[in-house]
Amino acid sequence: DAPVLELRNVTKTYTVKQGMFGEPKPLTAINDVSLKLGRGEVLGLVGESGCGKSTLAKVLLGLEAPSSGEVLVDGERLDGQDRRKLARRIQPIFQDPYSSLNPRKSIADIVSLPLRVHKVGDAASRDRAVREILDIVGLPARVMNTYPSQMSGGQRQRVAIARALIMKPEIVICDEPTSALDVSVQSQILNLLGDLRQEFGLTYLFISHNLAVVEHLATRVAVMYLGRIVEEASVGELFDTPRHPYSVALLSSVLTPEPGRGVPDTQLGAVFPNPIDPPSGCHFHPRCARAMPHCAQVAPRPLPTPEGHVECHLYDDSRGRAVA
Ligand code: SF4
Ligand code: MG
Repeated sequence: DAPVLELRNVTKTYTVKQGMFGEPKPLTAINDVSLKLGRGEVLGLVGESGCGKSTLAKVLLGLEAPSSGEVLVDGERLDGQDRRKLARRIQPIFQDPYSSLNPRKSIADIVSLPLRVHKVGDAASRDRAVREILDIVGLPARVMNTYPSQMSGGQRQRVAIARALIMKPEIVICDEPTSALDVSVQSQILNLLGDLRQEFGLTYLFISHNLAVVEHLATRVAVMYLGRIVEEASVGELFDTPRHPYSVALLSSVLTPEPGRGVPDTQLGAVFPNPIDPPSGCHFHPRCARAMPHCAQVAPRPLPTPEGHVECHLYDDSRGRAVA
């Protein structure tokens, strides 16, 4: 079975200026990333703000073209012109329903927009489709004639989910879909996304800075740091046996230590580095509690693990270090 969605050696580089008189410099937002999403899978993509995860979402949505490498949908290579085709199969749900919903449009207009853009059905069938999808996401039909400002944060996120699902996509890219919501509302939305996945056989890429949120939904987790996937594992493997010191640090910042979970041995110190000027060798070395002298010189390569891979010299036999 071909993955529904695949990135092969994707790199995305931007040219950015620092300050008004700064020299333009290259910023590698995604650095040679390969990822596969199987049908029905939920891949959690986790990392701090600025690590490249939103850029990765844009590349997957066809909103940004990779500088090199390729994006494949059902094993087929995507070209720039395939954007429309892609939109029918891959839909986004963004973080902030306050800013992603047009305040001047009624809920009916907002939810039916993808159908109108892609010229699907007539007015009557679009109206039926809106009622149906609102019911599926747990909103009454009477909200159709209301406006985003009349709704709560959780209701707005349900509207954003309805808008994404009305095209009957196979893949949904969720970029921090619950980060702007209260904790109690967050779990309702996560439960809804889980139910929808079951009901419609959806495949999710679920982007979050919060590992605890990802644990709830994901089947696999990819941990991103300065444009690299530094560890990929099943959700069970990552939470039970995190290997990369960055994964360990992320876990220790979200979990209160529990028996049997292992005691985190790293805390995230030092600030997130400037992606324009990434640290030499292993990009994580200035913050790594287990850094060794060669970590600042040599970039680690991906090493296979039972259910994924890790990029860290601690696991590299050829360097004669401890192997866990
Ligand atoms: Fe830490 Fe070295 Fe592993 Fe990088 S390669 S995460 S610096 S131990
Ligand atoms: Mg982001």
